[in-house]
Amino acid sequence: MKAELVSVGTELLLGEIVDTNAAFMSQRLAEIGVDVHFRHTVGDNLGRIVSVLELALSRSDAVLICGGLGPTQDDLTRESVAEVTERPLTLVAEAEERLRELFARRGYAFTRNNLKQATVPEGGRLLENTCGTAPGLLVEHRGKLLIAVPGPPPEMREMMEREVLPRLRERLGEHVTPVFSRVLRMADIGESSLVAQIDDIIRAQTDPTVAPYAKPGEVTLRLATKAASEEEAAPKLDGLERRLRQRVGDHIYGVDEETMEVAVGRALREAGATIAVAESCTGGLICSRITDVAGSSDYFLGGVVAYANDTKECVLGVPHETLVEHGAVSEPTALAMARGVRERLGADYAVATTGIAGPGGGTDEKPVGLVYLAVADADGAVCLEQNWPGTREQFKWRVSQYALNLVRKRVLGIEVGG
Ligand code: AMP
Ligand code: MG
Repeated sequence: MKAELVSVGTELLLGEIVDTNAAFMSQRLAEIGVDVHFRHTVGDNLGRIVSVLELALSRSDAVLICGGLGPTQDDLTRESVAEVTERPLTLVAEAEERLRELFARRGYAFTRNNLKQATVPEGGRLLENTCGTAPGLLVEHRGKLLIAVPGPPPEMREMMEREVLPRLRERLGEHVTPVFSRVLRMADIGESSLVAQIDDIIRAQTDPTVAPYAKPGEVTLRLATKAASEEEAAPKLDGLERRLRQRVGDHIYGVDEETMEVAVGRALREAGATIAVAESCTGGLICSRITDVAGSSDYFLGGVVAYANDTKECVLGVPHETLVEHGAVSEPTALAMARGVRERLGADYAVATTGIAGPGGGTDEKPVGLVYLAVADADGAVCLEQNWPGTREQFKWRVSQYALNLVRKRVLGIEVGG
């Protein structure tokens, strides 16, 4: 099945929001074996939406539209679908009923413009929206399928999973072999050095395939194979994963959706150990990420954001002479921060960060992007120096990612260098 995606919204064209919906939809469609051949972005303009839909319908089996299903003047997806399929919009009584109930329950007045959300091009059907007001649309037209889902990402995802993908899967029947994939996530290796280490595996790939992909603060390897079922795919993916782990296993912190904070939490929990954090340049991001994980109170004792030298000295016990002699951004300070917070909070492990996030504050000797990361436990402490120039946001994210990974490796007994 050939498909095209159409993202509707002037804000997308202006670059005000990023089209994350298209990425999600592409990914999920590929997984069930739908071939997405084109993706379009079009503003809130009836004529232009219609012309994109005409083009897409002329050459593909299915057209999936996201956005523009709301009640306002600039929500034109319904009208556009009605126009290309040459069908009038008709009111669906049950949908109107549901909308009125929803508004009453929320205590909002039901205005006339909301009625259009209960309309569908004749012969089509509405797709229920369980987390918002605007229902989706499904219209069969001359053997082709037109589907529209709402723009807000949670509504789009929910409707895709519950209404759209099962229908497409059913339609595909036996004709396709879906793609099953697995993602291996790494944080302390660059893409080029990873590729160099597994070059022969990448070159020799046929089935399953393996593809590297770099994201901020991490590199991933996507393993993919076509198979009739999960059961058939799993052993193939397992085999390739095993070979990759033999080469670069120590770098792999997680699989699929598993985040670094989840991986760290699991390592600490399995070791029955606790952690404390001392942050300067990351400003609390590490603590925030650790506590994004439910149940982190089992191993997270707390943290100190020690931004000023006085705080490093008074709260964490970094010696005054260390700060004077080496500066706040230095290996001795990072080590003293890690040891200090570990001792004061009585944790098994501690991690500390101190660096120059920029854009100002850099010198020749200590440029923007310089950072020291220290990890301490009962056996002592180690510190690593890194240099990651970039925006403050990128810098903080990378440092937090690397710091969490240092803890993970230390807990698992993997050499961290330094
Ligand atoms: P709409 O259904 O077009 O009124 O969109 C409602 C809201 O959903 C927009 O204001 C965006 O915040 C979000 N949204 C719409 N389209 C997308 C998209 N393609 N990717 C991510 N968010 C979107
Ligand atoms: Mg819109």
